[in-house]
Amino acid sequence: MGLTRTAFLWASTNPWLAERLPRYGFAKRAVSRFMPGETLADALAASGPLVSRGIGTVVTMLGEEVRDAGEAAGVAAHYRDAEREISRRGLDVELSVKPTHLGIAVDPSALDAFVVELGRAAERRTRKLWIDMEGSRWTDATLALARRARAETGGIGVCVQANLRRTDADLQPLLEEGVSIRLVKGAYLEPSSIAYGDKREVDAAYLRLARRMIDHAAKAPSSGARYAFGTHDRAMVAALREAGVGGVPGCEIQMLYGIGPAAQRELAEAGVPHRILISYGARWFPWYMRRLAERPANVWFLLRSLVAR
Ligand SMILES: Cc1cc2nc3c(=O)[nH]c(=O)nc-3n(C[C@H](O)[C@H](O)[C@H](O)COP(=O)(O)OP(=O)(O)OC[C@H]3O[C@@H](n4cnc5c(N)ncnc54)[C@H](O)[C@@H]3O)c2cc1C
Repeated sequence: MGLTRTAFLWASTNPWLAERLPRYGFAKRAVSRFMPGETLADALAASGPLVSRGIGTVVTMLGEEVRDAGEAAGVAAHYRDAEREISRRGLDVELSVKPTHLGIAVDPSALDAFVVELGRAAERRTRKLWIDMEGSRWTDATLALARRARAETGGIGVCVQANLRRTDADLQPLLEEGVSIRLVKGAYLEPSSIAYGDKREVDAAYLRLARRMIDHAAKAPSSGARYAFGTHDRAMVAALREAGVGGVPGCEIQMLYGIGPAAQRELAEAGVPHRILISYGARWFPWYMRRLAERPANVWFLLRSLVAR
């Protein structure tokens, strides 16, 4: 793993930097490339033009590692209001949530009830509630949460990370139990004992897992489960299309807002189902550091914003 990537992933967990960097105007200007604004209204406004072109979005409020039950309840209340607003406006917008933002560390039973409630609300409008996957400390709890909630409602999707060696084994029960799945490469710093470190190994695992998901979708076209492939890697998108994404019902590509607009246009022109994930919120620092770690060229945008006034 490159030194720059390791440094940004380290920075993403540093509370001192998280407290200070976001106060600077240059940092706000740089992050705006990946984030249309800090409020739900900003995310829904950015969804508008996409949704009107038939491209659905997923919106998520940034924040993680909440250790206070009251704060977690506030985050849940925000998402409840967001679901109500999206439903009222009939938008093709889904929600994605982070377990540690919703207080998995302080009140897991409240989180269980909340995920079932929002999963049911999503199911009523034939959409999904997506559960993000965070660092490996949370993998077991997050998968268990998704499987418990899926037993109650079909409106549940969970993210799995191809860089974790365990994901080969984790995938099967999720497929069998009809949990919708978003496959990503993995954005967290993990020890080599549990994760592939080399990009080629991660890519090989990603494609192996993706093929299993696509085969499963092809065999059960009316299961209602969706399989989303979250990646901006153009070679990977080509391999996914070759493997069936774009033809097999239930399979789609997901990308982050502001990344790879050319690739997003290509998907639209080719009629490949895809969604754009839009983040919003004031607590963007760790998330932004992970985006810089993914592509050192993004650092230039940060530096250019430092000199541009
Ligand atoms: C919709 C979606 C949801 C996600 N949810 C999660 C989650 O819940 N948990 C989690 O751990 N991770 C999540 N991720 C992040 C994911 O794990 C990867 O870190 C990220 O997508 C980078 O991997 P990649 O396959 O896109 O490209 P890589 O293999 O990292 O890079 C290949 C190429 O893709 C392009 N690219 C990749 N990233 C960027 C970027 N930030 N800016 C510009 N170009 C870029 C570049 O051209 C790069 O050379 C999510 C990603 C997406 C798209």
